[in-house]
Amino acid sequence: MTDKELLNIAINAMEKSYSPYSDCKVGAALLCENGKVFTGTNIENAAFSPTICAERVAVFKAISDGEKKFSKIAVVGGKNGVINGIFAPCGVCRQVLREFCKDDFQIILGESKEEYKVVTLNDLLPLSFSPDDVR
Ligand SMILES: [Zn+2]
Repeated sequence: MTDKELLNIAINAMEKSYSPYSDCKVGAALLCENGKVFTGTNIENAAFSPTICAERVAVFKAISDGEKKFSKIAVVGGKNGVINGIFAPCGVCRQVLREFCKDDFQIILGESKEEYKVVTLNDLLPLSFSPDDVR
């Protein structure tokens, strides 16, 4: 699967966002090593703290279906679903990704419906705390 194809899946996932409080819609598409793709979107809550990000929804869906080996993730978002630059994963999602992915894990960041930037998890979370640190 190409980066652009994964980005398009993330864009479609973004449309399902439940974000009545921020109006920020986010979509994620997580590609497993076996070719399966798990999508996620942000889901907000009136009590705020139960809110969860698109990236974690995708990862947790995959984990709960028994998948733990991931190739890359595409993330896209914007106010009212208008993609106008990168919507980078928050710190919590970076740490969740680090639980299952190595430093060279690729993150495709949508800049528009056509353009994107590819970075690594190490770019976003250098000197990370990983499972190797507690084993
Ligand atoms: Zn997040």
